[in-house]
Amino acid sequence: MTPRSDLRPAPGSPFAGAEGTPSRPSEPTAADRLAFWAREAGHLDWETPWSQVLDWTDAPFARWFTGGRLNVAYNCVDRHVEAGHGDQVAFHWEGEPGDTRTITYADLKREVCRTANALLSLGLSAGDRVAIQLPMIPEAVFAMLACARLGLPHSVVFGGFSPAALQSRIEDAEARLLITSDGQYRRGRAEPMKANTDEATRHTPSVEHVLVVRRTGIEVPWTEGRDLWWHDLVDARPDEHRPESFDAEHPLFILYTSGTTGKPKGVLHTSGGYLTQVAYTHRTAFDLAPDTDVYWCTADIGWITGHSYIVYGPLANRATSVMYEGTPNTPHQGRHFEIIQRFGVSVYYTAPTLIRTFMKWGEHIPARYDLSSIRVLGSVGEPINPEAWRWYRTHLGAERAPVVDTWWQTETGAVMIAPVPGAAPAKPGSAQQPVPGISAKVVDDQGDEVGRGESGYLVLDQPWPSMLRGIWGDDERYRETYWSRFAHLGYYFAGDGARYDEDGDIWLLGRVDDVMNVSGHRISTAEVESALVSYPAVAEAAVVGASDTTTGQAIVAFVILRGGTAGSAEDVTAALREHVAREIGPIAKPRQIMVVPELPKTRSGKIMRRLLRDVAERREVGDVTTLADASVMDLINAGLAGSL
Ligand code: ATP
Ligand code: MG
Repeated sequence: MTPRSDLRPAPGSPFAGAEGTPSRPSEPTAADRLAFWAREAGHLDWETPWSQVLDWTDAPFARWFTGGRLNVAYNCVDRHVEAGHGDQVAFHWEGEPGDTRTITYADLKREVCRTANALLSLGLSAGDRVAIQLPMIPEAVFAMLACARLGLPHSVVFGGFSPAALQSRIEDAEARLLITSDGQYRRGRAEPMKANTDEATRHTPSVEHVLVVRRTGIEVPWTEGRDLWWHDLVDARPDEHRPESFDAEHPLFILYTSGTTGKPKGVLHTSGGYLTQVAYTHRTAFDLAPDTDVYWCTADIGWITGHSYIVYGPLANRATSVMYEGTPNTPHQGRHFEIIQRFGVSVYYTAPTLIRTFMKWGEHIPARYDLSSIRVLGSVGEPINPEAWRWYRTHLGAERAPVVDTWWQTETGAVMIAPVPGAAPAKPGSAQQPVPGISAKVVDDQGDEVGRGESGYLVLDQPWPSMLRGIWGDDERYRETYWSRFAHLGYYFAGDGARYDEDGDIWLLGRVDDVMNVSGHRISTAEVESALVSYPAVAEAAVVGASDTTTGQAIVAFVILRGGTAGSAEDVTAALREHVAREIGPIAKPRQIMVVPELPKTRSGKIMRRLLRDVAERREVGDVTTLADASVMDLINAGLAGSL
């Protein structure tokens, strides 16, 4: 690989193809933005410099850093070792049963090289797809980076997904190899994994081999010739491997969205632009200091957050990370805080669903631990209710750590809207401003930008380096889903509602499909839910708009009460309706409030409102295959029988 100083975009027309007139005089031009991204890409090590920053002539199919060549794994691993940081810890890994592993950058390089050599021995070559279903163990990272090193697009499937979900993802990508484990620990028990993947691969002829990591030691079904143990195949391989460079647009991975709204889409990400933006956003959103910070992102590698902010972003930035295998309450509810204390975690990045769970468990739990190392707190996945934001900052951040609410999607690849930690005035519940280099707007039905204090649709009006390059094998669905709504303007339609406040800061209001229309007033799910959660007796809340003969739609709320709440359910719900009317206005008062034991959530922890809408409108409940726990719907239905 060439040294960094050779790195310069070749002369030519680096800004061609993205002309655009800024709508406000103070905004950077498209050319400014491209120059910005070219500088950011310069933090990576390119074997061949690019000739053009962005080619948007075939919009909406973008090409960033065209002509440039690099190796993503080299950028995440080898270059740090070559620069003398081989002894720095890349991962403090902790298993659910309490076993630990410390992996330095030098260790990581050896493991990734061995794994790459093993994959080569199976006859895989650049462009072949590899499916990975693994628990949160170091081999998951080794496998992803080995794929990246060899130009094999990976498709990581969350460990909790069923054989049917795995099967459809393997089929869609026609994977030649599946990497999995014998079993996985779930709340203290060893559960089978290989037995499930065998069910999936019975129907997937594309899979030639199954590579199996021994994690729990449980018995596994075995197909001679096809199945291979990781410790047999990988451990004996040489720990040196010369990386080859790939085109900046070489596919890096396919990742299926979490399925909150419907059938999962195989989102395609490529190499140079993706790595540029994940590295940049990881460094700036968390104000990362690679020599001193200990960073922990609690996502699973099966989600985009795990790809971008456990693997590619942090490693490109030479971060020291914590990686934890298990659930937050195994064997006790203080497990995360214990880990923060033990490793001195300074940057902690999690999801509102977990913060609300911590709230439910009680603040006396974090109070038992020394969390003084925490410097920055991050949130992603859903709008964070102001109440949860404040709790997070108080009980984890000692009232001083900035809370960075990051808005982005599987499709955007990296963070798009987030406050600058510590610099922006704290606004609980607002993601505030697009990060530098990104342009986002809130627009009305016609695509005209709305004014301050107004709400509308969130759009991205300029291409960005880590944008999806399509939906695997379905160009039409790509155009239709994201680019048809504002086709005349060329805007990317994010599918989320948003509002500008009086300062011009952005507040996310929830998915457009979930926005409620009561007597002609558009009311956001996020706002009503935040009002409900701000009532002391309420732990979690979800609201939906159910069709109503007089108002068009009426608000129906589902709430989980905190343990030990006094008074009857009727008293609490009556008080709650008044509380919402006071907080937002009488128009937002729920028609009905149902007390439920659980809410339906995806496996990534997001509330699935469309199922609750089915309940509220007394319909047969729709597709529940992406629910974390399908029995939740039975619980809700049983509890509500006759009450709607
Ligand atoms: P699918 O697209 O299959 O329905 P999904 O949208 O839940 O699933 P993701 O890409 O994981 O899959 O999630 C992105 C969505 O999560 C965003 O569009 C938005 O609705 C929500 N989201 C993520 N971060 C935030 C945030 N900080 N504030 C508000 N909403 C957020
Ligand atoms: Mg989505």
